Amino acid sequence: MAYTGLLNRYRPFLNLPAHTKTVSLLEGDTPLIPMPRLSRELNCELLVKFEGLNPTGSFKDRGMTAAISEALGRGAQTVICASTGNTAASAAAYSARAGLRSIVLIPAGKVAAGKLAGAIAYGAEVIQVQGSFDDALTLVVELTQKTPIALVNSINPFRIEGQKTAAFEICDALLSAPDWLCLPVGNAGNITSYWAGFQQYQKGLPPILGVQAAGSAPLVLGHPVENPETIATAIRIGKPARGEQALEAAQQSGGKIIAASDDEILAAQKILAGEGVWVEPASAAGLAGLLNEVRAGRLDVKGQRVVIVCTGHGLKDPSIITESFLAPRAIQANYDALLAELGL
Ligand SMILES: *Cc1c(COP(=O)(O)O)cnc(C)c1O
Repeated sequence: MAYTGLLNRYRPFLNLPAHTKTVSLLEGDTPLIPMPRLSRELNCELLVKFEGLNPTGSFKDRGMTAAISEALGRGAQTVICASTGNTAASAAAYSARAGLRSIVLIPAGKVAAGKLAGAIAYGAEVIQVQGSFDDALTLVVELTQKTPIALVNSINPFRIEGQKTAAFEICDALLSAPDWLCLPVGNAGNITSYWAGFQQYQKGLPPILGVQAAGSAPLVLGHPVENPETIATAIRIGKPARGEQALEAAQQSGGKIIAASDDEILAAQKILAGEGVWVEPASAAGLAGLLNEVRAGRLDVKGQRVVIVCTGHGLKDPSIITESFLAPRAIQANYDALLAELGL
């Protein structure tokens, strides 16, 4: 049967109002990619759920198809979100599809090029806020309380409903939940969604390893971070909206929330790309955290099946790569020059 999108595939499992009018870009249905080299190294079966292959390049499309479909059905004409970038691109695309006006607030100067370009390409009105993501979210919440503009950040419950589908897909592909699930944690909507999804689907409950960036790790420190800093801009969030639920998910599942440094995150990004899967920095946090735990002897995954959720595509943040090396060397356009360059 032809694939017609997440809402059609999983509708009986999603708590969405009857007025919901489906807006889909055929999101979801992303691959679980086996990683043979990493698996051998860690003595386990390691799989990457590559969410970067969604229509706008991140998992945000799962929640956005639900949130925009509900907003459209309710008669909303304008939607708004605060975003570190991927929510903005996703909200812009689904709004465009639905014919809605979309406004996105981003922290000034802190959004990766590929994400900003996406939001603009899809026609959103983009406003930079001189402050953090958390400041932008506060503004958006106040505006949507006082006007009929619909809020599509992950405090919107329908976002969580849509994002549960990633857990369903993993269980459907493996015929049961994995032994571990590792993923990055920013505003904590995704970890909340996975845990809700696994509980609802009843194919097993994996311990969840949630990973924050060390410079932006409120859930590890136990208090908000005033000026969060990390190269992993998608998880540069000092006051997660669903922080309590994230801690609960980690604890109830028998997992934990830990931090990984920027260097560790970039190293993990390189390892994944070295096996053919290029993800944006935040998306490598799950692997970075897993490697930390295994190498320190705090976690043994021998013989187990581990799913690493890679939340966004590497193309979203090309400058993190291009700014880290010198421009490729130039040679004259002749054969001898090529041989000389290659040392042949
Ligand atoms: C949004 C996002 C995250 C963080 O997800 P939360 O639900 O905010 O915890 C991680 N990685 C990428 C690529 C994202 O876009």
